[in-house]
Amino acid sequence: MNRFRLPYHLIVEESVFEDIPKALGDVFPKISSGRTVVVTEENLKSIFAGILDEIQKDFSKSELYLIQKADYDSAVALAKYITMNDIKTVIGFGGGTVLDLAKFAAFVSKTKYISLPTTLSNDSLASPVAVLGTEGRARKSFRCTIPDAILIDVNVVKSAPDRQLLAGIGDTVSKCTALFDWKLAASKDRESVDDFAYMISAMAFDSMLHAEGAELKNADFIKRLTYALVMGGLAMEIAGNSRPSSGSEHLFCHALEEDFADQVNVPHGIATAMGSYPACIFQGQDTGNVERIIRQFGIPVKPSAYGITEEIFVKAWQASAATRADRYTILNETDLSNARLSGIYQEMERIF
Ligand SMILES: [Zn+2]
Repeated sequence: MNRFRLPYHLIVEESVFEDIPKALGDVFPKISSGRTVVVTEENLKSIFAGILDEIQKDFSKSELYLIQKADYDSAVALAKYITMNDIKTVIGFGGGTVLDLAKFAAFVSKTKYISLPTTLSNDSLASPVAVLGTEGRARKSFRCTIPDAILIDVNVVKSAPDRQLLAGIGDTVSKCTALFDWKLAASKDRESVDDFAYMISAMAFDSMLHAEGAELKNADFIKRLTYALVMGGLAMEIAGNSRPSSGSEHLFCHALEEDFADQVNVPHGIATAMGSYPACIFQGQDTGNVERIIRQFGIPVKPSAYGITEEIFVKAWQASAATRADRYTILNETDLSNARLSGIYQEMERIF
């Protein structure tokens, strides 16, 4: 039996950052009076100076903590700082990198964690996983707890670059192939599928598939995308692992990050959407739904746009299964020959 916890608050509203203590007051009545650290990064400090000032005024004993590096050691150093200074609340303010670091530091120091995403680039804003840099490997996923509260200010997200929101949609596209791989692993007696987590993740995918006429920066669509990403995070929490959101397409993304970091720079959610198209082919699934979402929003998944050459594409797929060797996916049983992968690369270059 799995044990899981859900956030006490999930609020998606315009201008919710203007009075956070009020928004959280019913569950955390004295939250604004305890020592608080607001974790963010230098460039966000200037972009959102007004909002950060407001937050610091609302939390009278708060301080800004600007992260330099999003690696494991920095997260542990922050956790130590939190513990040594009796900090009661950690607020993460930023994109995936900041949120992952703040989330992990709050987890290690057993401190309350409030997630304030400024963009919607992947499902880390609500997931029980933090991806951090480590020595030896480029990045590694660490299990932690999901946030105690997630607050999304629609006006803030509207100001995020389009490409970040497209990456958020891309991370949701990948559920189509992740769910297939999860069932496949279960059919080999390698895993069991948690039906409820499966359903939530499938709903997240469907909410992007059936978003006809949606515009990226429209408030209703921002809510829809938020819910999709949060559902992705909660599905992982309920399943007790990342299977509902991460399959062979994520292994491809890991291979790019871990083996080709010097040559390739592609946002997580874009890489996973890029991986979902070939993964559909490997799985024998119709690529129609994945293509439809990619085209509707114009998610930029042409590999060469990120420095991914045919050779890198082929090698990355061939290295994918080894990035998480304990995870059974379609990659364990499909043909990953140079000829087949080259053909898929050329097809993707042509159609996207
Ligand atoms: Zn992801």
